[in-house]
Amino acid sequence: MKIQLAEHYGLCFGVRDAIAQAEKLATAGPLTILGELVHNPVVRERLDSLGVHQGQLATPGDAPTPQVMITAHGASDAARAAWRGAGFGVADGTCPLVRHAHGQLRLLVELGCQPVVIGKPGHVEVNGLIGDFPEAVVIENERDFSKLPAATRYGVVSQTTQPIEHVQQLVAALRAHFPASEVTFRDTVCQPTKNRQNALRKLLAECDTLVVVGGHNSNNTLQLVAAATAAGRRAIHITRPDELRDEWFAEAEHVGVTAGTSTLKETVAAVVARLEQIKQPTAA
Ligand code: SF4
Repeated sequence: MKIQLAEHYGLCFGVRDAIAQAEKLATAGPLTILGELVHNPVVRERLDSLGVHQGQLATPGDAPTPQVMITAHGASDAARAAWRGAGFGVADGTCPLVRHAHGQLRLLVELGCQPVVIGKPGHVEVNGLIGDFPEAVVIENERDFSKLPAATRYGVVSQTTQPIEHVQQLVAALRAHFPASEVTFRDTVCQPTKNRQNALRKLLAECDTLVVVGGHNSNNTLQLVAAATAAGRRAIHITRPDELRDEWFAEAEHVGVTAGTSTLKETVAAVVARLEQIKQPTAA
């Protein structure tokens, strides 16, 4: 049985840095994080042990500590100002690549475009992106084109974690739908997301079984499982190495391993070690 780890997987640098920032701040004094830093129980427990509180970005002023922190998903300038205005110290864990998406959207608005965001309506990053632009419209698929007002120029960005093929197809469809309008697209899908999507494609081309490591409430992890199933591969979704059973791999010849963006590298390393043990039971 061959075991192959994805070239890119697990925690991205944006979330990793935000976790490090939160741990540093929490060590220095009481802290409330505005939203979920990462869907990962191990990280949650570590932050709980440091006494970190959980608050909501959307309810300025409602936090038990004078210091709050914005997650890697970012926030609108309006939300940031509202917390500062309510007398809180606001630490900013926004990922630089989310900041880049904000900057691109602002630029398109300044150029006179009707702002359009490709992404999941209601997602915290998307809420942050559109929070300063009430005229912005979020689209997820072609059915959403009906939500768009007529405009001579549309300016499009996307949520950083959208599949790039989907984004490109939707932009092409938008151009076809509004042939008389100019559609300016700024690619804001982040490089770590693109790397993970490419790595997954490679794995799926070579493996018969894919082990996906990540939380059951992690949307990104579930997307990996769905992609494997759609490609006709057997997907095994686990959160920890001790969930793996020897008999699951009796017929497997080539096992790929990947992980959602909320999964720690050490958890994935432990999963690979457990698979090696399954492969060579006599060495256990
Ligand atoms: S923008 Fe990309 S790198 Fe930054 S936090 Fe989001 S997924 Fe991670």
